[in-house]
Amino acid sequence: MPSIDLRSDTVTQPTDEMRRAMAEAEVGDDVYGEDPSVNRLQDRAAELLGKEAGLLTASGTMSNLIASLTYCHRGDEIVMGDQAHMFWNESAGASALAGAQIRLVPNDSQGRIDPDDLERAIRPAGNIHTPSTTMVCLENTHNKCGGGVLTPEDTEKVASVAHAAGASVHLDGARIFNAAVALEVPVRELVKDVDDVSFCLSKGLSCPVGSVLCGSQEFIDQARRWRKMIGGGMRQAGVLAAAGLVALDGMIDRLAEDHANARQLARGLASIPGLTLDPDSIQTNIVIFHVDPSLGSAADLIGALGREGVKVGSPEEHYIRMVTHRHIDGGDVEETLGRVATVVKAMG
Ligand SMILES: *Cc1c(COP(=O)(O)O)cnc(C)c1O
Repeated sequence: MPSIDLRSDTVTQPTDEMRRAMAEAEVGDDVYGEDPSVNRLQDRAAELLGKEAGLLTASGTMSNLIASLTYCHRGDEIVMGDQAHMFWNESAGASALAGAQIRLVPNDSQGRIDPDDLERAIRPAGNIHTPSTTMVCLENTHNKCGGGVLTPEDTEKVASVAHAAGASVHLDGARIFNAAVALEVPVRELVKDVDDVSFCLSKGLSCPVGSVLCGSQEFIDQARRWRKMIGGGMRQAGVLAAAGLVALDGMIDRLAEDHANARQLARGLASIPGLTLDPDSIQTNIVIFHVDPSLGSAADLIGALGREGVKVGSPEEHYIRMVTHRHIDGGDVEETLGRVATVVKAMG
């Protein structure tokens, strides 16, 4: 029985074209700024996103941390949504290493934050008792909010409140190309109002390693120094950048297939008694659904599905997450739905 891995789009393997490009990559010492493949990738990414400069980092977590280090002094405050990846899944790097305090405002079901909530959360300037709000973070698509998408208008409203208060806006755009494809808007439209953006090469775009942080030349110059300090200065990193260039050329448009498969998966899951989700809310490649406690815990269902060869994750108690990606086709979706129905029936 072939196993179906829906835990994350991070399980994607590099394509044959990527492996060839990696083997043949022209490389140099990137800490000296001399790796032509890295320089090409950074320039290409910055151009695509409409920013002045780019910086290759080891991971999305490293990019987010570098942004925090660049914008914050010890004792500053970062405002973000209460479902943010940076808050839940990055080992408190912004607090532990950048010395910033995190303040949360509610995320709605799609991962948006209300500009009025943000305005109330931002600290007034010039009070020695309070931290300074120097950074506001958005996430697009929103991981814990079911792959929800922020439109250019959603982003603009939040960014204008942040900027009016003198705070910089960082976009955790790990899956920003999924948002662009889902909305059918150029990616630069989605990031035009933020100061910097990080996106992952290693998720749906199928690269083995890497993220790119993009922003103004001044921001990237500072970010490069922080990257070096935390040990992220890589030498012949062009081997990685070569795969990234293949991804930016050929892997973005196909994300639409992952989204179609996610919708097919969501419609099927919603018809299984005991599983609850709104299939119409699925915009990208992440499907999160509720498991009725009468069936057992989400952990029980994960265990039972695992024995049927279906690997999934659980973002929180009573919820299961499935993520579609390049190695999941329509047949795998149907096969998954059959195995889930069997397992749920046996549990009920
Ligand atoms: C995956 C992810 C990250 C972290 O990326 P890594 O490369 O796994 O460190 C950050 N933010 C969001 C929204 C993510 O989905």
